[in-house]
Amino acid sequence: MKRKVRCGNMYIGGDAPVSIQSMLTVDTSDVVAAIRQIEELKDAGCDVVRLAVPSMEAADAFGKIKRETVLRHGEKAMPLVADIHFDYRLALASIENGADKIRINPGNIGEISHVKAIADAAKERGIPIRVGINSGSLEKDILKKYGKVTAEGLSESAIRNARLLEDMDFQDIVVSIKSSDVCMNFDAHKILDAKTDYPLHIGITEAGMGESGVIKSAVGIGALLLAGIGNTIRVSLTGDPVKEILCAKEILESVGLRNSGINIISCPTCGRAKVNLEKIVLELSEKLKEVKAQRVKEGQPRISIAVMGCIVNGPGEAKEADIGVACGDGKGAIFSKGEIIKTVSEDAISDELLRIIVEME
Ligand code: SF4
Repeated sequence: MKRKVRCGNMYIGGDAPVSIQSMLTVDTSDVVAAIRQIEELKDAGCDVVRLAVPSMEAADAFGKIKRETVLRHGEKAMPLVADIHFDYRLALASIENGADKIRINPGNIGEISHVKAIADAAKERGIPIRVGINSGSLEKDILKKYGKVTAEGLSESAIRNARLLEDMDFQDIVVSIKSSDVCMNFDAHKILDAKTDYPLHIGITEAGMGESGVIKSAVGIGALLLAGIGNTIRVSLTGDPVKEILCAKEILESVGLRNSGINIISCPTCGRAKVNLEKIVLELSEKLKEVKAQRVKEGQPRISIAVMGCIVNGPGEAKEADIGVACGDGKGAIFSKGEIIKTVSEDAISDELLRIIVEME
């Protein structure tokens, strides 16, 4: 089991559940915009959020943002992570201004005494440091040793930089290795996981946008989680970070690490379907948004709803699910706990399923 590290009001590693992280896309110095995005991420289900701190102005704004989120949410305020590159003074200012965690790549902080200053300040405040290694920032000697960026090189760099902090008597370390190459990312984590007990922050960096980014992230993060690797996850997508949270939640649900909400199972349809199944599923998904969020909030067990286009696989899937519909010509047989309870017209299917789900609560 990995070490357990406290980050604000939650833990990473040990027996803590796998958490979801994201990063603000707005300028940290724009306090109003930053707080708005933090609220959106929190509402979407984000557990930890990272803010870029590229200047002293941003470090000051970080303090204002931290104070405002604590004012709004008290102990439930989402932990804020300061993302620092190059200038150790920005890390010290962020720690002073209430950062719950610092993310650095010790290699680009420069002098050892500067890294030590960050470690000492973080230790005094009792906050962890994430050592973040990216394939684009491997040390020259490691690149020379392996000839190019490799899984071995990435894991060696991560271990080297984490041990640097340990040698400074700092133990609250989270490690991340990020590569945009899904296979290399997987191999590097396998090596790192076998060699260390640091909690691991996993993700596919620069995954891109749209379906391609979602699929790369799902495969890269999902494969690691199924191998038992990863304590906190970040889906990195170009665009609105709220999408990252929705994708991260789906990944965790798909690998059985979150067991709440609602799972819609729907067939792809084929020439046998005699209803507009896509319209029914879209309507149902939209109508269920609030109910799903409420179930997640209340920690209610996940329920599955099967929406099937015809009688070939429909009755079987619908029976297996908690609730289901097996469609016929312009109508659907509604199943609850394996039994047909009624048949309704195509237009009434989504409302009828919604009504049953709400009554189940
Ligand atoms: Fe086609 Fe029916 Fe299977 Fe849906 S359930 S894919 S409509 S055979």
